[in-house]
Amino acid sequence: MMRIHHLNCGTMQPVGGRLINGNRLPFQTARLICHCLLIETDQGLVLVDTGVGLRDIANPGKSLGREFLLLNRPRLDLAETAVRQVTGLGYAADDVRHIVLTHLDLDHAGGLPDFPKAKVHLHATEHQSATRASTRTERFRYRAGQWAHGPDWVTYHPTHGDHWFGFEAVRQLRGISADIALIPLPGHTHGHAGVAVRRHEKTESTTSPHWLLHAGDAYFSQSEIDPLTPRSTPGLSLFQTLVQADGPARHRNQARLRELAQDHGDQIEIFSAHDPDELDRYRQDEPRTDAQEHHGRAR
Ligand SMILES: [Zn+2]
Repeated sequence: MMRIHHLNCGTMQPVGGRLINGNRLPFQTARLICHCLLIETDQGLVLVDTGVGLRDIANPGKSLGREFLLLNRPRLDLAETAVRQVTGLGYAADDVRHIVLTHLDLDHAGGLPDFPKAKVHLHATEHQSATRASTRTERFRYRAGQWAHGPDWVTYHPTHGDHWFGFEAVRQLRGISADIALIPLPGHTHGHAGVAVRRHEKTESTTSPHWLLHAGDAYFSQSEIDPLTPRSTPGLSLFQTLVQADGPARHRNQARLRELAQDHGDQIEIFSAHDPDELDRYRQDEPRTDAQEHHGRAR
């Protein structure tokens, strides 16, 4: 049975307070998280996005840059790193055989050096943008130190592939029998992608959706893809515009996600990387891992 764990691999408390999280009280700070997935498959563990890593915490100024630290105020808590959560679940870091990235922004790629043996799957366009970073925005967002160890990259060209609920050029990950696919969702970055995962878990309700879609940074708050009354906050809206690589593509893809939620919400559950309320949906009854059952450990 394939199990899927939802992890927060990095809390951020960016400047902006209520302008960012519309549901916060005026005196509360904003809160963004890094929503990652840990999937148990027949080919070992698959991690979707990696959040903040040990190296970022050991030397934040150098690894993440002072600008990012000032703007986003990451908590930099060792317990939130993917590797600590993997070992906390009873696994070894090397049990993570595959990593899938929505994109290579610093808050998604920080955990890469903690899993040096994993194959790292992503769109070729994203790999190119990040490794050839030339503009000021690109140097702010892409931090070469996070992949200085030389990951085993597996890249996909986002021009051809299968169809999936109206999306095109969708690629099943190589070397993994579970249904995990990269879906081109450019805009936030040129090679930005969503990651679709078909669920095989037993769930309480027989009507729960069959697919999960990790939409990365294609949107930042669930309210932005609300089919009836889409809305954002001034802070999130400004931030997304400032860092977008391709505005028209970003708006088009956000509209497509809205349509997907509208037309196929009964079959697909969509969430993004940084919305804390979306993560809370999944944190109630986390399943035990095979490793925990094997060792008979209590949670
Ligand atoms: Zn992000």
